[in-house]
This record gives sequence, structure tokens and C-alpha cells, in this order.
Amino acid sequence: MKNILITGAAGFLGSHLCDRFINEGFRVIGMDNFITGDKRNLEHLKDHSNFEFLEHDVTEHITVNSNLDYILHFASPASPIDYLKIPIQTLKVGSLGTHNLLGLAKAKKARLLIASTSEVYGDPLVHPQTENYYGNVNTIGPRGVYDEAKRFQESITMAYHRFHGLETRIVRIFNTYGPRMRLNDGRVIPAFMGQALRGEDLTVFGDGSQTRSFCYIDDQVEGIYRLLLSDYAYPVNIGNPHEISISDFAQEIIKLTNTTQKVIFKDLPVDDPLQRQPDISLAKKLLNWEPKVGREEGMKKTFEYFKSLSEEDLFKREHRDFSKHIKP
Ligand code: NAD
Ligand code: UDP
Repeated sequence: MKNILITGAAGFLGSHLCDRFINEGFRVIGMDNFITGDKRNLEHLKDHSNFEFLEHDVTEHITVNSNLDYILHFASPASPIDYLKIPIQTLKVGSLGTHNLLGLAKAKKARLLIASTSEVYGDPLVHPQTENYYGNVNTIGPRGVYDEAKRFQESITMAYHRFHGLETRIVRIFNTYGPRMRLNDGRVIPAFMGQALRGEDLTVFGDGSQTRSFCYIDDQVEGIYRLLLSDYAYPVNIGNPHEISISDFAQEIIKLTNTTQKVIFKDLPVDDPLQRQPDISLAKKLLNWEPKVGREEGMKKTFEYFKSLSEEDLFKREHRDFSKHIKP
């Protein structure tokens, strides 16, 4: 039986990856400090004989007693609202956290896959984005804490690969959605669906002409699984190329949710990328992978999940208390 450590296990992507690797017959060790995650995402695995959970902040030295064959590093705030509130933790988890995991992978002779992001392309001047595009990131803007942490993460990972011969993989994840996203994490899908369910107007930032391309969680997990088991060390885009403007997307959500609410416009956040669409030719060729779940089907499943949450969850205005994670 192969052992895999998954950091960020209590988060949206991390918890789905735990499920997938358990189903594939791995022994999974989940690690998380719950800064943006939720214990409930792992509740169903609590008593599983092939699952173990370690509560730990990966920016601190990491000790794992068992052998490890693989490590997936998914710990990091991922929503713009989260990483604007905890900018230093975001920089640390991408830099110090990644350094700790690289050291652990080297000691255990494990293969490490890191979760990078389309944000390494910043506000892209090349469209759709190919892996050989170097990006257009504002290093000192508010989003720079996330984008630059992820760019550093890629650089240090390649350095360990080249210098130490460590087996590494880099996935550049484009906007991914599905059940277990945090309702109040501020990302556009939970934001619109939460607003529709509470009978509030949908808040479109800017004029809504900026675009995104949304990938359903099952497709993303399949791409990550195939990349981990491949022999390719350079970055690979995984996302769904079906692009839509945010204002058209708001209309789709209004139709899907049958809400009678309207769209209202708010200021566009600083450095919000104007367009985003993955070029997935490399993933198709290397991994024989492409997304299978269309937006209509994926959004329906995601809305079912948000509808199943309690009234308390829906109306609790979560102002997550990050203070216990912030050192004075
Ligand atoms: P999420 O916030 O749901 O999950 C992140 C998890 O990491 C949380 O459970 C959080 O508590 C944990 N975490 C954060 N800092 C930690 C630390 N120092 N120590 C231990 N645990 C820590 O976000 P997500 O959407 O599941 O994103 C997971 C990963 O995928 C992130 O690295 C993110 O950058 C990347 N990613 C996600 C998307 C997306 O669309 N969902 C897109 C690009 C990249
Ligand atoms: N957005 C919006 N209304 C919201 C939340 C987000 O119009 O209530 C926009 C946001 O400005 C961005 C897009 O939706 O252009 C996607 O935002 P998200 O936070 O989901 O992720 P990003 O791709 O920007 O990291």
C-alpha cells in the first residue's frame, strides 16, 4: 500500500483529493491547520482505517513518522478575500511551507506535487494562457502575496528537482468549483449562489466583462491524479477552457437558481485579471486528459450542495477569525 501526505486536506480541493486517493487504495495522511478549511470536509473519513489526520501548520517544521511515497502540497489560502486578510500567512505557506515539504520529500524519497495556479500568469497578455507564458504579475499589488508566493513555490520546486534530483510535479490550477467550497470565502461561485439562496442581489465586480473559465472538481482531481503518476516535471495547466464573462455568468446563475433578484455592480478589485482561459493542449497530449463535466451539470451539482447547507450556515455571516493564526 502506498502512503500519501496531502496538505490542505480540510479545504475544498484537498478533501476531494483525500477521497480520491483513499478510493484508489492509498493510505492517506491529511494535514491542515484549519485557517481557511473546515473539519466537516473530512468528517466522513474520520474513522476510515486508511486515513489519518495531523493538525499542523506546514510553515513550522513537519514531522511524519511513516514512510511516504507521495506528497501533495495543497495548503494555502486560495480565495482573494482570504489572502488579502492573511497576506503574510499566504506568503509563508507558499515559501516556507513549500520549503519544509521539499525537505520532507527529500528525506522520505517521496514524489512531491505542488498546487500552483493560473495566478502565476497575473493579468495575462497572452490568451489563452500556455505554460510557456511567463506572466504579467504586479509584485507589489494586493494580490502579489498569493501570485508571488506561488511563483516562488514553482522556482524552489524546480531547484530541488534540478539540484537534488527530487521527483516533482507542478499543476497550474485554473478556477475550480464544486461541493465543499466555503460559502463565504468570497469566490464568485459561492458568492453568487449564497446571494441567490439568501434572496440578495448578485454582486458583479467592475462592469462584468472580465472572463473566467470554470472547471468542475471531479475533472480537476482526475487531471491532478494523472499528472502525479506521469513522468513530467514541468508545469501543466489543468482547467476547463470554456470561458465566460462574469456578467453572463451572473445571468446563468439567476436562471439556474430561479432567483428574482437582480445584478448590482461594485468596484473591480485592484489587479483583478481581465481574462483567463487555460490552453490545455499539453495536458491533452501528456495525460490524455480533458474536462468532461460541462458548466450546466457542474453548477447544478454545486447548487444542490449549497442548498443542502443549514439555514445557520447560510445566514451566518462568517467573518472568519484568523487571529489565532497570526503571531504578534
Ligand atoms: P481552501 O481554502 O478550501 O483550502 C486550503 C486549505 O489549506 C485549507 O483547509 C487551509 O486551512 C489549509 N492551510 C492553509 N494554510 C495552511 C498552513 N500554513 N498549514 C496547514 N494548512 C494550511 O482552498 P482550495 O480552493 O481548496 O485550494 C487548495 C489549493 O489549490 C491551494 O494551494 C490553492 O492555491 C490551489 N488552487 C486552487 C484553485 C481553485 O480554483 N480552487 C485555483 C488555483 C489554485
Ligand atoms: N467576482 C464578482 N462578484 C463577486 C465575487 C467575485 O464579480 O461577488 C468576480 C471577481 O472580481 C473576478 C471573478 O469574479 O473577476 C472571479 O473571482 P474569484 O474570487 O472567484 O476568483 P479569481 O479568479 O479572481 O481568483
